Amino acid sequence: RRGTTGAAIAVRLAYENVSHAYDEVLAVDRVDLQIEPAEIVCLLGPSGCGKTTLLKLAAGLEIPASGRVLIDGLEVSGPARFVPPEKRGVGLMFQDFALFPHLSILANVKFGLAGLPRDVAEAEARKALQRVGLERYADLYPHALSGGEQQRVALARAVAPRPSVLLMDEPFSGLDSRLRDDVREETLAVLRETRATCIIVTHDPEEAMRMADRIVLMRSGRVVQAGSAADLYHSPTDLAVARFFSELNEVPGIVAGGVVSTPLGTFGRQGVVDGEAVTVCVRPHGVQVAPAGSGQVPGRLISRRFLGEVELLEIAVDGLDMPIKARARQTVTAAVGSEVGILIDEAAVLMFPV
Ligand code: ATP
Repeated sequence: RRGTTGAAIAVRLAYENVSHAYDEVLAVDRVDLQIEPAEIVCLLGPSGCGKTTLLKLAAGLEIPASGRVLIDGLEVSGPARFVPPEKRGVGLMFQDFALFPHLSILANVKFGLAGLPRDVAEAEARKALQRVGLERYADLYPHALSGGEQQRVALARAVAPRPSVLLMDEPFSGLDSRLRDDVREETLAVLRETRATCIIVTHDPEEAMRMADRIVLMRSGRVVQAGSAADLYHSPTDLAVARFFSELNEVPGIVAGGVVSTPLGTFGRQGVVDGEAVTVCVRPHGVQVAPAGSGQVPGRLISRRFLGEVELLEIAVDGLDMPIKARARQTVTAAVGSEVGILIDEAAVLMFPV
């Protein structure tokens, strides 16, 4: 569907109680998820949790065992009807769909525009290449382009038909970190311009935080938590979600008398009940290293690594098997091997029942 400006009209993509299995493996388990018009959702989760399967169900490359997929309010997969992939207005950018090596860059981008008159297809393909800044490469062949450039061509090919829904599976993997930043920014700009409703599959939390309007975290075929990057970072539903989003110092705690006692001192109780054993997590940026004799807990500095904006420190604390990690922004003067004190910022503390 096109608006008067030629841009796709933003549509909603919905999964209603969708399950899918391959033989005995339940890959997607009763997923309810709505992606709003022009929203960018990142699907995040460990390998094998069902991310790619969820994309394939929207693309029409798999048919759900139960439940329905709707695009723009119309059932495209479900008991009532199945719409074939090419009729869904869905663009795909999957790793398996590499560029065709024997076709020029322009011909690669034109590939998805086969239904249009020749000159219109050519103009649209050139426009898509221009969008990713590669129009000058139109007549070259893929092997003459760098990995990052090829990825941008793949992006141009996916968006050239102006799909209402764009499904991307690990679109930035295989790029080195600087190129990845460029291609991500380019992708965001193209998505904003085309107003495609988009799902990006990734296993990289940082990528999800950068790209997504909303992050959907999956585990074992189920949606564990969905929300903004800040929601998932500050209010993870469980320890596994917390671990996914940052490095953690994890120490045992006991809740008694309304406070939680740990080898790192006592903390106010957060949603856990008296008598309960809990895991107390402290993010390394909330650990401050102070001169010996000050701070909440005595320790010994056992390593430091300078990383530019921050310094990573490890502190051994009596009663703990693992050293406590700190990310210090300010200069710490203590030498490795010396006694120090640790201060914990309670805002960097999370706790979960064991
Ligand atoms: P990854 O991050 O490793 O790509 P994923 O989260 O995308 O993983 P899926 O590819 O959706 O996960 O796979 C979910 C589960 O379904 C896994 O256990 C996987 O082994 C299984 N699976 C996926 N595709 C098939 C298939 N074609 N045949 C059989 N099992 C499959």
